[in-house]
Amino acid sequence: MASQGRLFGKNAIITGAAGGIGLETSILFAREGANVLMADISKEALERAIAKVKEVVPNAPRVETTVCDVSKEPQVEAMVAHVDSWGGVDVIFNNAGIMHARDDDAIGTPEEIWDLTQNINVKGVWFGSKHAVLSLRRHKKTKGSIINTASVVALVGSATPQLAYTASKGAVLAMTRELAIVHAREGFRFNNLCPAPLNTPLLQDWLGDDHAKRQRREIHFPMGRFGEAVEQAHAVVFLASDESSFVNGHDFVVDGGMTKAYVTPE
Ligand code: NAD
Repeated sequence: MASQGRLFGKNAIITGAAGGIGLETSILFAREGANVLMADISKEALERAIAKVKEVVPNAPRVETTVCDVSKEPQVEAMVAHVDSWGGVDVIFNNAGIMHARDDDAIGTPEEIWDLTQNINVKGVWFGSKHAVLSLRRHKKTKGSIINTASVVALVGSATPQLAYTASKGAVLAMTRELAIVHAREGFRFNNLCPAPLNTPLLQDWLGDDHAKRQRREIHFPMGRFGEAVEQAHAVVFLASDESSFVNGHDFVVDGGMTKAYVTPE
């Protein structure tokens, strides 16, 4: 029930809101009573995504969309200004990110793919964090929650290379940790979300019916399966809510135990 939701009255921005994790999080945020600004680079995908949110949460409070490329600071500034008109940002989920098909190892990764990946995955998170802090200060808020999407590859190495992506997620992890310390006395919390590979169309289509490729990844999951996007979204609700008021600077790993495993059950 929205009027008693865990995020009732909070103004939240979600970037990459039209994608797997972003859409599931938008749905849960709306269900928990937040006002949600869904931001994404794709206008068409956003239109489909907001229709889905309104379908499954018909009594949602305010849910709006904005087209924003998070690697462009003026667009991020405009996205945050949109929520300033609602009374200022309480929560931002800097979740937009890419893993480019041409991302490879040290030898094979083209420089332009390196730069594109860092611009979206790292600079985008910096811009989102920066303008959220400015909004929180403008509105004299004494608490705020910023959640930045890293990945388990920021914690463990992958033998299937994606060097630019891995480096970008390591940067998100370190940047978020420092932001958490710098802004702690203002009441602004910063936490990382570290998802493991998920059962999203993106990955599953790519794996297709190539059994060996799938097995190469699935074997690392103690639970014997990939994660679901909604399992990430539930963690984000917790980090956004006041229930996590003493959780700060944390690398919140949602991976079914993958990064804790030495060998997995047969
Ligand atoms: P997704 O591809 O389904 O969604 C990403 C969304 O970001 C898309 O809607 C896309 O349009 C949007 N986007 C891309 N570039 C953008 C830009 N410049 N500005 C604004 N929006 C942009 O992916 P997802 O699985 O939902 O991933 C969300 C986040 O989770 C990403 O940061 C990703 O790196 C991370 N992650 C995903 C997995 C996984 O297995 N899916 C695992 C670990 C981490």
